[in-house]
Amino acid sequence: MSGKRLKLGILNGDDIGHEIVPASVEVARAAAGKAGLGIDWTDVPIGAAALESHGHTMPEGTMETLEGLDGWILGPIGHRDYPKVPGAINPHPILRKGFDLFANVRPTRSYPGIGCLFDDIDLVIVRENNEGFQPDRNVVAGSGEFRPTEDVTISVRVITVEGCRKVVRAALDIARSRPRKKLTLVHKNTVFKLGCGMFVDTAYEVAKEYPDVEVDECIVDTFAMRLLRDPWAYDTVVTTNMFGDILTDEAAGMVGGLGMAPGLCIGRGAKAMAQATHGSAPDIAGKGIANPYAMIESTRMLIEHLGRAHDLPEAVRAAAYMREGLDAALADPASRTGDIKGTGGTADMVAGIVAGIERAK
Ligand code: ATP
Ligand code: MG
Repeated sequence: MSGKRLKLGILNGDDIGHEIVPASVEVARAAAGKAGLGIDWTDVPIGAAALESHGHTMPEGTMETLEGLDGWILGPIGHRDYPKVPGAINPHPILRKGFDLFANVRPTRSYPGIGCLFDDIDLVIVRENNEGFQPDRNVVAGSGEFRPTEDVTISVRVITVEGCRKVVRAALDIARSRPRKKLTLVHKNTVFKLGCGMFVDTAYEVAKEYPDVEVDECIVDTFAMRLLRDPWAYDTVVTTNMFGDILTDEAAGMVGGLGMAPGLCIGRGAKAMAQATHGSAPDIAGKGIANPYAMIESTRMLIEHLGRAHDLPEAVRAAAYMREGLDAALADPASRTGDIKGTGGTADMVAGIVAGIERAK
């Protein structure tokens, strides 16, 4: 045992975040206890609750606190519902850019009995996180959208060689770690000759350093169609920000919906942020029915990632226990939420996962 403890932050976020983030912490604690992994948890106020308590959705000192941590769990942020007051900002771009978390790793996996459209799906889409069309993330000053006259809007899409290199390298590392060792570049260089052209050319350049990984490519619209015709054809996929945004929701829809769509934001160092793909789902908040899978699996990915990055076998073991717990809960309708053909609520699912962890060999 290495003796190193992980320092993890708990950032509940908004709405169902107050249910699924504590659920994730409970599951992580159970697995860590069994694996002999020490975790020091820090509560970090963020979002609407922080606006209430600190007058800001991202109170002063938040970045410094996170700087001192190995990683954190970020619940969904419902920034579109924030009141229009100073201090009510969307923390997402600050967190992703501030820590250069340029790759959003979003796995899609099918489970029997939960309403997946396909069986035996196991693929990972890596979405570029900090460039592209997204107005609040563009590297150009100000917004990424402009209205030079009242009836004309210009949306700017930023693609850089460095941004492409970083996300493609992250995707190649993931592809290499998986049995099929296959990476598909998804783009539209037939139309976006400069932007997507840069993405593809840079990707092939970086891929030369990974001769063991088979690299192919697909035009984004064709990919959206093929994903539904033959999802087994793909293993690891890398794409630019907005294509990744759309395709990961499509992939989630194939395996039971947004509650089944986890994500891990990673950068060059070991620091990482667990963040489910879905939003804060205000319509179901407080009812105890939110599916915690995506948030718990994101947390599992975080602990596994940190375990490998810091050479902590007990963290890798804790992540494996979490996997067993999740598999056990998903196999039983009584410990599944209604969105995935279960009869239980959030607490039932957590209890099922923890019981699965306790039973794990
Ligand atoms: P965003 O743009 O922030 O992604 P959104 O408009 O896509 O938000 P979400 O908050 O992601 O909306 O959720 C859309 C709907 O999906 C919710 O209203 C909810 O019914 C369902 N949903 C999302 N996440 C979950 C979950 N974890 N468990 C159960 N249902 C969920
Ligand atoms: Mg959405």
